[in-house]
Amino acid sequence: MTTASSTAKTLSATEAKFHRLGLLTPQDFILHLPIRYEDETEIQRIENIHAGQRAQIEAVVIDSQVRYQPRRQLSATVQDESGSISLRWMTFYPSQQQQMQAGRKWRIRGEVRAGFHGLEIIHPKISAPSSPLPAALTPVYSTTDGLPQTALRKAISSALIHGDVTDTLPSVILKKLGLMPFEDAIRILHAPSPNEDAQSLIEHHHPAWLRIKFDELLAQQLSLAAARESRRQKRSRPLAKAPGSLSLCERLIAALPFKLTDSQVRVINEISNDLTRSFPMYRLLQGDVGSGKTIVAALTALQAIEAGVQVAMMAPTEILAQQHYEKIKSWCEPLGVKVFWLTGSMTSKSRKLAAQAIEDGTARFVIGTQALIQDTVHFKELGLIIVDEQHRFGVGQRLSLSRKGETGDTVSSQFEAAKDQDLVPHQLTMSATPIPRTLAMTFYADLEVSSIIGLPPGRTPVTTKLIADSRRDEVIAHVANAAAQGNQIYWVCPLIEESEALELQTAVDTHQALSMALPNLNVGLVHGRMSNADKATTMQDFRNGITHVLVATTVIEVGVDVPNASLMVIEHAERFGLAQLHQLRGRVGRGHATSVCVLLYQTPLSLIARQRLRAMYETQDGFEIAQRDLDLRGPGELLGSRQSGVALLRFADLAEDGGLVQAAREMAVMLRQKHPDIAEKHLNRWMRGKEDFLRS
Ligand code: ADP
Ligand code: MG
Repeated sequence: MTTASSTAKTLSATEAKFHRLGLLTPQDFILHLPIRYEDETEIQRIENIHAGQRAQIEAVVIDSQVRYQPRRQLSATVQDESGSISLRWMTFYPSQQQQMQAGRKWRIRGEVRAGFHGLEIIHPKISAPSSPLPAALTPVYSTTDGLPQTALRKAISSALIHGDVTDTLPSVILKKLGLMPFEDAIRILHAPSPNEDAQSLIEHHHPAWLRIKFDELLAQQLSLAAARESRRQKRSRPLAKAPGSLSLCERLIAALPFKLTDSQVRVINEISNDLTRSFPMYRLLQGDVGSGKTIVAALTALQAIEAGVQVAMMAPTEILAQQHYEKIKSWCEPLGVKVFWLTGSMTSKSRKLAAQAIEDGTARFVIGTQALIQDTVHFKELGLIIVDEQHRFGVGQRLSLSRKGETGDTVSSQFEAAKDQDLVPHQLTMSATPIPRTLAMTFYADLEVSSIIGLPPGRTPVTTKLIADSRRDEVIAHVANAAAQGNQIYWVCPLIEESEALELQTAVDTHQALSMALPNLNVGLVHGRMSNADKATTMQDFRNGITHVLVATTVIEVGVDVPNASLMVIEHAERFGLAQLHQLRGRVGRGHATSVCVLLYQTPLSLIARQRLRAMYETQDGFEIAQRDLDLRGPGELLGSRQSGVALLRFADLAEDGGLVQAAREMAVMLRQKHPDIAEKHLNRWMRGKEDFLRS
């Protein structure tokens, strides 16, 4: 192979990884700001480091070997004058094995964890001990599998040279608001000099962060204002509720094995009224985990179907879509409404059939995943879109679905629906992550909100236990006990933000360790990298009680409903956000058995982690939890930190930066009126896929 071709190959592989992170243009790189900073200015003594911490040590290799346990892995022991620690590589190159020859000294960095045999660092960063220590903080960027920080740093510094770093705002405005120039701000954030105040950089109070936060909030306000304006001008087909007790809705209500709660009835009425209007509904239905949103969605769908349009319901995961399909089918088919199913894992033949039925209008009610928004799916007359667990979707995905209702998909549909040229579907989004009212007003300024308060009667609250990781053996014994009594158990593996590979590896390790510790039980494993078919089989086995213990990553976080599961163990609970813990805990407490949620944590706990765990212990009310989450962490977590898309705030924090929101709002109004050119330039910098957003 020639050097040129191998270079080209590595380049494109790296580029593919950049794309995965949404990094396409120099602008994207410039705004890919550090998720945190590492202080690598000092060397620690091994005796002083502890699990859960990032450490930097200098130590000599005293022993290293390749082990099979059962997978091939490299492990080494290193020591300094104060103590020793293990290093471990799940995959490694011969060069790394070379490096770990006994007697060699290295500078070693990484996250320390409590392994099954004492403290260890998995996949540490190794460098020569002689190189001078950095004088300033080292930025750390969010990355993806196999993309090293150094590659990101290089691409970012190049973007800082070649990209546009000019200010979007005139200096008079900056002066008035006391903000620093854009270019200064990003240079400080990407490459802080030793003079910058480390604390305020780490805590996001530094003036450089304030400038970035303001810019982001301003872009958000500008785009919300634009979206509002364009939405007002849209038209939708009014979908009146069929009168009388023979309507589909009334017949479903009469057939239900339970009585709707007052709260459900109220939100159903709110939604039903919206549907009768000739402009699009944009309504968010929020209600705690288990509050009964699915039936509200089904009733909404039936009103629309009876009024003569197609309905699409989309869930963020295959597991959840499948579950909705089964449940809603059992409700709707007795009424003569056939429910269709469309997901990515279907065979291409059955997908074609479903797509055909959607296009010719035979399919009136379709449930599925993101596959519903593929270009190959054309609805004949889509009148209502329901998006479940909306916080898990990117805004872009939601918007593609809402555009499905617009005509012009294909030439033929344009002809057929010429009279409906401008009709857009009504939209109901659902979320179990309640948003406190103040936040909803800023963030979803153009959305109506309906809330289901409380849970249906007859639920037994989940008992929450906080247990230190050192008592893991007791917890495993408890798992064995619960299984012996016929209950099923979820074992949730820790979230590892920096590395998907490590997250996966931890799940695989845990699965193996639990299988060994519980030889009489069937221990299953489900994670995000499995094929959809394998995931479905694993979930089905768990649902059918074949699997006793299900080791899972956070793929089970939303919506999953297995009533016989009554014990959940969450490892490293201190790493999860409050909303996420609440969602996870919502997977148990769904059946008759009294349920227990064990939050295993590793000491020492940070103050915020302690407050989060305490909140989990003290309350199960999702609204209360949301409020505490907002107080503790700010809205990023609340709105789903993984959400990508234009409306997401990556840097600003609505709870902390309330003052900036107000300033940004006023500035947005002023710019739209007096300086639309500045407004546009600013939006261009910040809004990836801005056009999608404005079209919505
Ligand atoms: P979520 O709001 O989390 O999506 P679901 O819609 O999955 O909750 O509802 C949870 C469970 O409660 C389901 O089994 C559902 O059938 C049941 N349910 C919904 N409404 C009621 C009610 N009014 N009374 C009793 N059970 C209900
Ligand atoms: Mg649900």
